[in-house]
Amino acid sequence: MRLHAIEPRSRANGPGARFVVWFQGCTLGCPGCFNPTTHGDGGRDTTVEALLTELAATRAIEGLTLSGGEPLQQPAAAAALLAGARSLGLSTLMFSGYTIEEARALPGVPEVLAQLDVMIDGRYVSTDRHAIGLRGSANQRIHLLTERYSLADVQATPVAEIRIGKTGEVILTGVNPLKWGR
Ligand code: SF4
Repeated sequence: MRLHAIEPRSRANGPGARFVVWFQGCTLGCPGCFNPTTHGDGGRDTTVEALLTELAATRAIEGLTLSGGEPLQQPAAAAALLAGARSLGLSTLMFSGYTIEEARALPGVPEVLAQLDVMIDGRYVSTDRHAIGLRGSANQRIHLLTERYSLADVQATPVAEIRIGKTGEVILTGVNPLKWGR
């Protein structure tokens, strides 16, 4: 699979502490996309097995979050990662630029949806910026696909997080990282 980045423990990408995988590649082209470096051929190749080994070795996390880029443009890898997370007892959440109705019609994607507790769907619309409760813009929707979380659980996610990496790098994540970056 083509990977943009991982963050082993984030509190700004869904309920609780979560391992986050950003997929590389997205062709949806939302004007004003907040993560354009995830488009195209950047990132690096890795394997689902390598990511699941890292996930299993990460202590005290509640779940796995897939983001991007566009996870549903690599559906086999997305489904395998989510299934692996569930086998570890972790919850699963995914951000996608596709609506859930579009997603259900894409090859290989129903298998992804079957492994999810929560999906945040829809293109980012910069003119309708929202940036709270895990929704980047107001058109996006939170789908609770199991009973694992309530809407309040999901909406309570902090909008931004700042972390200092081992080599001193500053890592900003969350639905409104510019809250800290300005
Ligand atoms: S779907 Fe996400 S990554 Fe893709 S262009 Fe839209 S905002 Fe950017």
